[in-house]
Amino acid sequence: MDWKSIPQEYLVTNVKLCLGGKLSAKTGYLHVKDGKVKAIGDGELSVENVPTFDGNGAVLSPGFIDVHVHFREPGREEKESIHTGSRAAAAGGFTSVVTMPNTLPPVDSAPMITYQFDRARESGLCRVFPTGAISKNQDGESLTEFGDMVAAGAVGFTDDGTPVMNGSLMKYALQYSKMLGIPVTCHAEDTSLAGSGVMHAGSWSAKLGLPGIPRVAEDSMIYRDCELARATGGHLHVAHISTKGAVDTVRRAKADGINVTAEATPHHFTLNHSHCQTFSPMFKMNPPLREEPDVEAVIAGLCDGTIDCIATDHAPHTVMEKELMFDQAPFGIIGLETALAVGITSLVKAGKLDLGKLVYLMTEAAAKIYNLPGGKLEEGTDADFVLFDPEQQWTVLVDEVQSRSRNSPWLGEKLTGRVKATFMGGRNTWLDKDFS
Ligand SMILES: [Zn+2]
Repeated sequence: MDWKSIPQEYLVTNVKLCLGGKLSAKTGYLHVKDGKVKAIGDGELSVENVPTFDGNGAVLSPGFIDVHVHFREPGREEKESIHTGSRAAAAGGFTSVVTMPNTLPPVDSAPMITYQFDRARESGLCRVFPTGAISKNQDGESLTEFGDMVAAGAVGFTDDGTPVMNGSLMKYALQYSKMLGIPVTCHAEDTSLAGSGVMHAGSWSAKLGLPGIPRVAEDSMIYRDCELARATGGHLHVAHISTKGAVDTVRRAKADGINVTAEATPHHFTLNHSHCQTFSPMFKMNPPLREEPDVEAVIAGLCDGTIDCIATDHAPHTVMEKELMFDQAPFGIIGLETALAVGITSLVKAGKLDLGKLVYLMTEAAAKIYNLPGGKLEEGTDADFVLFDPEQQWTVLVDEVQSRSRNSPWLGEKLTGRVKATFMGGRNTWLDKDFS
């Protein structure tokens, strides 16, 4: 059976279902009709006159959801367009993404939200949910029209890429978002403390002679924003949490009943500041790679529910930009195509998290942050799903990268866990080269 010419109704058999945070020990099936799930379960299902696809023993889970990506359209399509970003998402097993608004110009009005939806629909490879900027032109001065943007489909508000230094503006943003029932996402970085830092401020920045970004630049802003969420009752979502102090603050805030959620990136639960000794800009990101106790705190936060979900902060930059000297190169790395494998390699294989929980953090838990559809497979839901082999080892090859950019610290690395096929609304959006 040819996966590419997929019919309106079909059955996928010989798969291990991974649903609701649990990987089934048995073999199961998925029955799709008209883009929706008709039936799903363990065991066998025989339906007459319906084409059957053999899943070859792969794990079948809901399509992954990434709540933090930078698709650079409009304005910076040489790094990534909505189409190439969607292609990278599909290759990574993602069926939904939440885009950050720091494009050129920033997404700070309803027509800009509509424009991004239109471009995503034309591409048709991934569901794209835009966020709107908190401040006009992301300059931190005055609030955007939240109501208009929500009416156009914005799922949240953030000035990500830059912090909201003005506490009063952040307070108003949380107040409005409470009325509208959507989150405000903080990129927590006190710029007066971060200064001109290019990596984590610690023993390695001292050795390498590079200016550092101290933990307190992040910790103090997350503390402020948690207190603003307490004062307003708004939903604060903490992007790319990276320090032990920040994880502790979020844990305490949750215990206090503050409406706060948080995400962590694969690079922050895997790599630390010592990687910067290579002077490779592939290890330059914001927030920066921290120290081992921070990495351990992020993993502990993922395990105990302090950190709600995994998000990649997929941040494409051109080869030319990332070939600059460490201190000159832009912050950020791509992450959509390696997220599952990095999670399996560094968390599941290392015995820190089981596969069911990892998948949960990349699906159902992620959907909850921005009230997105998806993340679950049940009778009647959209047939957004992924097939992957959790045991397959593969090497990240530059020629196989589907993003328009190549800035990944995992290029040339061997990882475990390979996406075999991705489906959005029952339609195939990605097929691995050796999967048939
Ligand atoms: Zn950010």
